[in-house]
Amino acid sequence: MLYDCHIHSTCSTDGRNTMEEMAQASFKKGVGYICFTDHCDIDDYMTGLPIEGSYDHREKTIRMFEEAVKKAPSGLQLHLGMELGGGNHDLQRAKKIAASPELDFVLGSLHNLKGKKDFYEYSYESMAQCHELMDEYATELIELAGMDFFDTMAHIGYTIRYMRRDGFDVSFNLEGYGDKIEVLLKTLIQNGRGLEINCSGLGRERIDAPMPEVEILRLYRQLGGEIITIGSDAHSVSRAASGLRQGFDILRQLGYKYITVFEKRKPRFIKI
Ligand SMILES: [Zn+2]
Ligand SMILES: [Zn+2]
Repeated sequence: MLYDCHIHSTCSTDGRNTMEEMAQASFKKGVGYICFTDHCDIDDYMTGLPIEGSYDHREKTIRMFEEAVKKAPSGLQLHLGMELGGGNHDLQRAKKIAASPELDFVLGSLHNLKGKKDFYEYSYESMAQCHELMDEYATELIELAGMDFFDTMAHIGYTIRYMRRDGFDVSFNLEGYGDKIEVLLKTLIQNGRGLEINCSGLGRERIDAPMPEVEILRLYRQLGGEIITIGSDAHSVSRAASGLRQGFDILRQLGYKYITVFEKRKPRFIKI
């Protein structure tokens, strides 16, 4: 049975299908456990400045989730979480949102640097610019790793997706950012936070790797990291469960014995 702890619905502005539709599509592809993680970003994606009402879709989310639970096929477990973006830009607000009692799980992610627009929105113009942004990205991830409002850190290195889109063949790996990545992983471990293996790039043009990259997943384990969640990051039924089987295989090959799920913010370890 597959687990998916990173999946979006129409409660995210970029999600295409309802939770019920996402649940049905995932179940057909072998998923028996879902934790929905719709976006809740601290900043406006164009200005990079904090916005009010990041979690204005709270009521809608709870209602849609209850509906999905009612209609879920037997054998499918549903949980409700959140992908909280940019929490290090306004820690007090992030803490308040993450403490919402309906949440089983909180992914901590970073889609933009402090005061800057979403990585998706840039037109990248040089390798130097890409490296400068990724260096700042690594610094902010370390800052985020030291905070405690989230459970696992989402899609480390996802910035390369957009840089490669614009023709720059960059990687977020140990060769380029080893010192910072090691500090990042150690900070997560010491702070009792975990890591996500995000499967959305697997089998995809220009990427075809998990996020973070395999060598970072290996180092996390070598450093003693044990908390790891897995997710497809699907935004539509056509992407439901994508990459999950391969993601599980990668973890097994690296010697991981368990994945983690969170229920009411408490970790539970599942043998793989
Ligand atoms: Zn994200
Ligand atoms: Zn996501």
